[in-house]
Amino acid sequence: MPHKPEYYMHRALELAAQAAALGEVPVGAVIVNAEGEIVGRGFNQCISQQDATAHAEVQAIRDACQNTHNYRLNQCTLYVTLEPCTMCIGAILNARIKTLYYGAKEPRTGVIASVCNLPAQPWFNHRLEVKGGLLQAAAKKLLENFFQARR
Ligand SMILES: [Zn+2]
Repeated sequence: MPHKPEYYMHRALELAAQAAALGEVPVGAVIVNAEGEIVGRGFNQCISQQDATAHAEVQAIRDACQNTHNYRLNQCTLYVTLEPCTMCIGAILNARIKTLYYGAKEPRTGVIASVCNLPAQPWFNHRLEVKGGLLQAAAKKLLENFFQARR
């Protein structure tokens, strides 16, 4: 039985807090299947993994693909605490994620509502359903606390 979207975004926020504890920019993501089970989890780990591609969304997609033994995640929903970047939208579309929920906007690198609307471009052969702003205040607070502590 699926939970409400807020439930899953809270799980993503918990993962974002794990990233912050490691000194990583706090972004977290979970992937949920059609039955409402969390099948993938990820948080930003670029520094600790020494991997420029280790964004929360990519980590969660890798985890979900391994757990479901499938390179596509057709009926899945991805929840991420921050508006995705170009790379992550590419990964999300390649994974055929059905629906994307994000929290806070990312004014410099976000490619859904901030700098452009990349997934809406007509050359993609996959349509992604997008819902922004879910628990955005909590996601923003985590990021602000993180960057304030570093100053
Ligand atoms: Zn990204």
